[in-house]
Amino acid sequence: MLSLECSRCNEEHDPAKVNNVCVKCGGTLFARYDIEGIKEILTKEKLSGRVKSLWRYKELLPVRDDENIVTLGEGFTPILRLKREKKVLMKDDGIIPTGTFKARGQTTAISKAKELRITSVAIPSAGNAGAAMACYAARAGMKARVYLPGDAPEATKKECEAYGAELVLVEGTIADAAAKMRADFAKEKWFDMSTLREPYRLEGKKTMGLEIFEQMGFRLPDAIVYPTGGGTGLIGMWKAFEELEELGWLTQAKPRMISVQSSGCAPIVKAVADGKNEITETYPEPHTIAAGLRVPKPFASEQILKVIRESKGGAIAVTDEEILRAVKKLASEEGMFAAPEGAATMAAYHKLLETGNLRSDEEVVLYNTGSGLKYLELLS
Ligand SMILES: *Cc1c(COP(=O)(O)O)cnc(C)c1O
Ligand SMILES: [Zn+2]
Repeated sequence: MLSLECSRCNEEHDPAKVNNVCVKCGGTLFARYDIEGIKEILTKEKLSGRVKSLWRYKELLPVRDDENIVTLGEGFTPILRLKREKKVLMKDDGIIPTGTFKARGQTTAISKAKELRITSVAIPSAGNAGAAMACYAARAGMKARVYLPGDAPEATKKECEAYGAELVLVEGTIADAAAKMRADFAKEKWFDMSTLREPYRLEGKKTMGLEIFEQMGFRLPDAIVYPTGGGTGLIGMWKAFEELEELGWLTQAKPRMISVQSSGCAPIVKAVADGKNEITETYPEPHTIAAGLRVPKPFASEQILKVIRESKGGAIAVTDEEILRAVKKLASEEGMFAAPEGAATMAAYHKLLETGNLRSDEEVVLYNTGSGLKYLELLS
């Protein structure tokens, strides 16, 4: 990695120091790499013999010294063809440490934090990111504090405690959890691991895009349908595709990126429909069973909307009832017990076919971001 560049004003920041957002404008910082140098050392052939985790792409990840890597073998998860839908692949992060893809962001963020000698980390979360941070902090021997909505999934609260994190429950949503954390920082400052206000979770989530590319035989599908909350995954995959283009590995068109949200909390769907470049209002009365999608005002909305625009993608809402039906359908027909967020992509897929936004001959990757086992209280 060469530098950290502001995604909004391009101001450069020194990656050898501890950074959160841009000191000039408050924008998200993106890790930039010496792609020309990486071209010399990384080949497609070399990849095949490597560790079967996301650390197989270590040249494109921010950690300098391998000694600092905090890993549980996360990533390189299966990509499976669905039995009932010929042109659809499911990338399945139900099978990953902590049971959700939040492990991807936390392995890189905690590893980099270790390299920067950070010893205490705090995060506001809807549940899964907090649990994953607590997990990797435990493995790294760091102190962790997690701020969750009181009604976060039971599993995520229990995980935080099991991993030895301090758990703070807050009434409301992730936005209220974040406000409480910032208020507490006035008394005692911990390192802020909030998504996209910390530069390296994005790098871990980027590997979703690298894996789809490698596992499909060094090519990409026509569209990717992704359950979007804070948007780190969407932005991360797009960043991966741009780096693959720079490396000269990706020469075809990039996929259309389609965000799925729940109709109970759909700020991105609304912003796309309104032709907005940014989300300035908090989505009213945000509610959904898909906890990871209950983000009423994503911090990096400009970046999310840019990816959707540039990729000629879109955004679609599905109801919680449709999500639950899709959870059961995926489990009973495909043997995949997906998290509601992941199952939402299946519900969305059928709607997109109906509305003509996707054709049945287009190759589509649905992203399952987690395991249904983390949401047992939803199923009766
Ligand atoms: C956090 C989360 C999401 C949303 O991810 P973003 O990349 O922040 O948009 C989707 N699914 C699950 C299971 C999550 O925990
Ligand atoms: Zn800036």
